[in-house]
Amino acid sequence: METNARVGSAPPQYVPSGQMQFPFLDLKAQHSRIRHDVLAAVEKVLDDQHFILGPEVEQLESEIAPLTGTRFAIGCASGSDALVLALMALGIGPGDEVVTTPFTFGATAGAIARVGARPVFVDIETETYNIDPDLLPQAVTSRTRAVMPVHLFGQAAEMAAIRKTADDFGIPVIEDAAQAIGARYAGKAVGSLGEIACFSFFPSKNLGCAGDGGMLTTNDQALADKLRALRVHGCRKKYQYDLIGMNSRLDALQAAILRVKLRHLGEWTAERQRNAERYRGLFHEFDLDSKVDLPCARENRTHVYNQFVIQTAVRDELREYLQRRGIPTEIYYPTPLHTESAYRFLGYGAGDFPQAEAAASRTLALPIFAELTDAQQFAVVAAISEFFREQR
Ligand SMILES: *Cc1c(COP(=O)(O)O)cnc(C)c1O
Repeated sequence: METNARVGSAPPQYVPSGQMQFPFLDLKAQHSRIRHDVLAAVEKVLDDQHFILGPEVEQLESEIAPLTGTRFAIGCASGSDALVLALMALGIGPGDEVVTTPFTFGATAGAIARVGARPVFVDIETETYNIDPDLLPQAVTSRTRAVMPVHLFGQAAEMAAIRKTADDFGIPVIEDAAQAIGARYAGKAVGSLGEIACFSFFPSKNLGCAGDGGMLTTNDQALADKLRALRVHGCRKKYQYDLIGMNSRLDALQAAILRVKLRHLGEWTAERQRNAERYRGLFHEFDLDSKVDLPCARENRTHVYNQFVIQTAVRDELREYLQRRGIPTEIYYPTPLHTESAYRFLGYGAGDFPQAEAAASRTLALPIFAELTDAQQFAVVAAISEFFREQR
């Protein structure tokens, strides 16, 4: 951590980048901070030999519920399964429509299609990349059974307006909070802003396990009971099938590791936020304000920066330049879902969601993991500055 000092007051100076090699997400750096505790937790589960659900999972559930401001948390096998289970619990299936965003990870719309319902896309806001609440009402039809906003990159969607539309039409809200654990909207935690919320513990999320894992949260006792049954083949009692369910359980090894990591989540989130502010400072110092758009952090929200996504018209050229300099970047997401071949059956075409399409061609994610050092961030922004100098 010694290199993680704050940005100093010295003016930026030219540092030849490309001498530093670091990954986009350094999970080894995270593991080295908690290695001892993780290994002890794993050893305990192996000694107990209780692998599926059980006390570790129940403990984790009882710790996630208060963090998300909810009464019930239900572990499951992945964030994708959490979305499917949420739709199943609400009885959504063939003939139904669910309104969501086309600018998201494939699992969001994939879950809707997998239960046999129809994803109905609504374009995004330019600044936050989240579903545009002003366009929501006109997407609702007599077949709409839910709206599924995504809190993309770690910032909550415009939940007050989404909630209002949902209430006006009497439809539930399923939050896709996979990227946003710990984020807040108007003081309330994501996970508590809809009827059901879905979290992912995929390793690249802010709270990641050592494999796949997911969690659902809700304040509704009946929905919680149903979700608990659906994740174990629809059984409330062993071998008594009340519902058609699936096998989607969180295992004890993942829960034990997650419980260790959960103790650090607040600290890691603060480090991501500090890194975001450091980027903002550096972009300003390097006079890049007119060259790239930085993430828009809305006032009434706490952004947890699962990703730090910038925008520029010369995205592809910039990315290639950075790649040659050894600066890692990613593109989230290179294509909006409505133009993907899997969703051709929905009948959408290019031009239908111009903001999502523009974002897909302009966005670039920079490294933002908690352990990112001052020097690494400096190298990233210095290389971006060099790119724009050479562009002139
Ligand atoms: C990661 C992610 C998911 C899926 O989570 P998995 O645990 O990988 O199945 C769903 N939605 C969004 C927005 C995600 O980022």
